[in-house]
Amino acid sequence: MNGAFKKACLLIPCAVLGLALSATPADKAAPSAAAVGLTAADLAARIKARLSYDPLTGYGLFEKAGARLVFARELPWAIFDWADSLAIDPPTELEGSLSFTAAAAGIVEKAFSEADAAARSHFSVAAILIDPGHGGKDPGAIGEQGSGSKKLRIVEKEVTLSISRKLYDALKAKYPDKRILITREGDSYPSLEDRVDMANSVDLASNEAIIYVSIHANSSFNKNAKGYEVWYLNPEYRRTLVDSRKAQGAEKDIAQIQNIMLEEEFTTESIILARNIMGGLQSSIGSDSPNRGIRADEWFVVRNARMPSVLIEAGFVTNPEEGKLLSRDDYLSRVASGVYNGLVDFVGYFESMRGAPSP
Ligand SMILES: [Zn+2]
Repeated sequence: MNGAFKKACLLIPCAVLGLALSATPADKAAPSAAAVGLTAADLAARIKARLSYDPLTGYGLFEKAGARLVFARELPWAIFDWADSLAIDPPTELEGSLSFTAAAAGIVEKAFSEADAAARSHFSVAAILIDPGHGGKDPGAIGEQGSGSKKLRIVEKEVTLSISRKLYDALKAKYPDKRILITREGDSYPSLEDRVDMANSVDLASNEAIIYVSIHANSSFNKNAKGYEVWYLNPEYRRTLVDSRKAQGAEKDIAQIQNIMLEEEFTTESIILARNIMGGLQSSIGSDSPNRGIRADEWFVVRNARMPSVLIEAGFVTNPEEGKLLSRDDYLSRVASGVYNGLVDFVGYFESMRGAPSP
């Protein structure tokens, strides 16, 4: 034992000092001043991340090259990149700034360096799941146009299947290395749960994403209603997110952090995907049908970037002109190619942005 250590032992009980020197995330004791490694700002500088911290709520995050770590004051957990919860010494507020123990700082640094390595291994869209709405016993919307022998019956489940199969073929040809999937190939009826399970059962590496595209056609009591829409989807449509009402104890803490973090992620890939597809539809459909815009139900906020998801309403089967268009194979090909072009744009954007090594 050297002199300096002996001297320190005179000031601080050696047991506490010993504990601090060997501090690990598993240690339950509150870190003493001696155990505090770095301020949040210093840690951000060391890992070259952007720091946001709100002293009022005590929540903060580090962000680097699209990866995020959310932490909270006095909470022994941090959430990395939407999914992984890491046990850390609780960050403490000391003289107006938030501090991490050396052990906690090490865990944060390691999480980001592993993410860098994953990003360098190329982030890609590994799978595209096409979901033709309805099917089998569920016809979806039905429009009847004309009369007598010229009577035309437009059934949503047929429209969605036709567009989806064209889209499927085009994507298969364009991306032989990606998994192009479809929730039904004929007139069958997979339940919403079946469709969600299919999306969730696709095996993805940590640097891979899946895109979910659901195709529908619209109906209205107002026969004049016409046009196409692109919706971006609530992640709960396809997966169960952490439900803080059901969680308990530490799980509850994690759920609260995750919910706050997810609410922050407002501009996500789903919205960009929706814009790309809207752009594609606009150029392929032109003035034949009005663009009704990009939509999101206020309860349906996209919060997760891992599975960009959109739903396309290709047009109104109940509108006399649009119903006729939707019964024509060449028109459905144009819809499919609009969606296809939007998807290809998005994949290019996504893979160049997320795939680039961090500076
Ligand atoms: Zn539908």
